[in-house]
Amino acid sequence: MGVGAAASSGGLMTAAAPSAASGRYDFKGPVAISSRNGTAAVRRAMEEIQAGADALDAVVAGVGLIEEDPDDTSVGYGGLPNAEGVVQLDASVMHGPSGRAGGVAALEGIVHASQVALKVLRRSDHVLLVGRGAQEFARMHGFPVQDLMTEKSRQRWLRWKENLSKDDEYLPAHDFDDATIGQAEGWNERHWGTINCNAIDLSGNVSGVTTTSGLAFKIPGRVGDSPIIGAGLYVDNEVGAAGSTGRGEANLESLASFLIVERMREGDTPEEACLYACRRIASRTRPAYLLDGNGRPRFNVQFYALRRDGLVGGAEIWGGRGQFAAADSDGARLVPLAYLYEAS
Ligand code: ASP
Repeated sequence: MGVGAAASSGGLMTAAAPSAASGRYDFKGPVAISSRNGTAAVRRAMEEIQAGADALDAVVAGVGLIEEDPDDTSVGYGGLPNAEGVVQLDASVMHGPSGRAGGVAALEGIVHASQVALKVLRRSDHVLLVGRGAQEFARMHGFPVQDLMTEKSRQRWLRWKENLSKDDEYLPAHDFDDATIGQAEGWNERHWGTINCNAIDLSGNVSGVTTTSGLAFKIPGRVGDSPIIGAGLYVDNEVGAAGSTGRGEANLESLASFLIVERMREGDTPEEACLYACRRIASRTRPAYLLDGNGRPRFNVQFYALRRDGLVGGAEIWGGRGQFAAADSDGARLVPLAYLYEAS
């Protein structure tokens, strides 16, 4: 579903803003939004909010459903592992009323990384714990440690490993006369995915969470944007919240969630602020291997933002069919993402 014709502006292709007059973006009162994989999460977050929960507890409860879903291979249990076949999770939370944040990175063996991030916020004086220390902290607080690989994610990892290089000894299942054996899978087939969820509660307070298994088959120890406050998530109770999915490296070099919240503070709508962040990333991406023949990024990022009065919006670099999930007291629905360039 297209959200606007592409129009040239300042040397970059920009998407015309979808009409706010349609009312699709103008949620009244408490609202929860998330990346597209979060319809169940925003519905759950709204149930919690309507029962009186703080927005932070509500969004963590919401994304918990996705973290424990074995079929979502981008988050929590069943998330795709790193290059060595180990699932390493990243997550962050941020609480508008207190201004506090918590995060975990490269966390192994714990399904609900967002709940551990919440413990970091509530039960430590730190903001970010990584690796073994994060797991020990989680264990101290009673989180069970378990294998996060499912048969499905193990098979996906094995297929990647076996097709990684023509020069190693790993081979995928094949007929002995198959000439295609050893062809590396395309760069574009790398798997990205995450859930970001932000909400406003009955008191008008704003909070958010981002949780992920990160880039599939990443170098062990790689940390993406999701657990980094200002990159994968940012909340300011006076303004609103923003979060991201997509190529974390691009966002880490732009701190786009912080940028989006600051743009909203200056008067941008959530969607305008998200498009601004997309343009910023597109204009500062220089390495040739990341650019197409027209100098445009070969990757995608998505941003989701919510203003404290209930206006919501989102944008991505490459779009046309992208959506995000939103819920208010009328229930959950999918809303189009604006975009810079129309994907073919
Ligand atoms: N942003 C996540 C990361 O870079 C992945 C994603 O959203 O696809 O780890």
